[in-house]
Amino acid sequence: MVQALADKTAVVTGSTSGIGLAIARRLALGGANVVLNGLGTDDEIRAAVKSVSENASGEVKFNDADMRDPKAIGDLIRSVESDYECVDILVNNAGIQHVSPIDEFPPERWDAIIAINLSSVFHAVRLAVPGMKRSGWGRVINIASAHALVASPYKTAYVAAKHGVAGLTKTVALEVASHGITVNAIAPGYVDTPLVEQQLDDAAKSHGKSRDEIFEEVVLAAQPTGRLVEQQDIAELAFYLCGDAAASMTGTILPIDGGWTAK
Ligand code: NAD
Repeated sequence: MVQALADKTAVVTGSTSGIGLAIARRLALGGANVVLNGLGTDDEIRAAVKSVSENASGEVKFNDADMRDPKAIGDLIRSVESDYECVDILVNNAGIQHVSPIDEFPPERWDAIIAINLSSVFHAVRLAVPGMKRSGWGRVINIASAHALVASPYKTAYVAAKHGVAGLTKTVALEVASHGITVNAIAPGYVDTPLVEQQLDDAAKSHGKSRDEIFEEVVLAAQPTGRLVEQQDIAELAFYLCGDAAASMTGTILPIDGGWTAK
């Protein structure tokens, strides 16, 4: 059987762990060549490449571009274009977080979050779109957040960046719609990742509460389903957006948040 994404090449930024790694595995399973990216030790990167390669029929590569650096993002897109003609599928997923009241928010954390969570999306998209236009087909999937739609206190930079990603998604979708290119954002709620587990553990420690109490106050209060979103659910939605059935979906911000933003 011909795989849905055979002959397509996907770049997934921030795919050495968490949601990006789950998306990379799903696109590889669908037949795409996949270029991984992200931070990590040599062992972590080897493990990520191995886990994506296990179910891949295309090639799996790794590029170490630092998403804070526009030049490195340019080198990443150029190297993929020299290997495969163009980036067919661009998943902008790399992201970081910092939680702090506005009057204590370190300016360098603001700069880093805006650079990685927002400006990197602008640079990767502006550089990948010409190749997609040449081939007459493309998929851009931006991993935003429920925080692209609603705010929470103490997350100024993250909420600003993710709202920015929502605006960028809609704007570029309008510009490239007639070229066979769709641009969408996925807006997850709390997802079952090591990052969230760590945040729950840290919050429990700093508030002198049990992990279960923090889970109830943070996750259950936000998500009426009463559970974390699974990484695989995000990966399946990303895979769907790459398919022909999603050709008319563009400019959307798709919540997958256990009902959080319906309230
Ligand atoms: P994660 O920490 O597991 O993954 C983040 C990835 O980004 C890693 O691969 C990391 O190496 C990479 N990264 C960080 N800084 C980088 C840099 N300078 N250059 C290149 N790569 C860099 O986190 P995750 O939870 O899987 O988050 C992935 C995306 O999903 C982020 O954009 C995040 O905002 C978004 N998101 C996560 C959740 C959640 O609950 N986990 C909810 C909503 C949105």
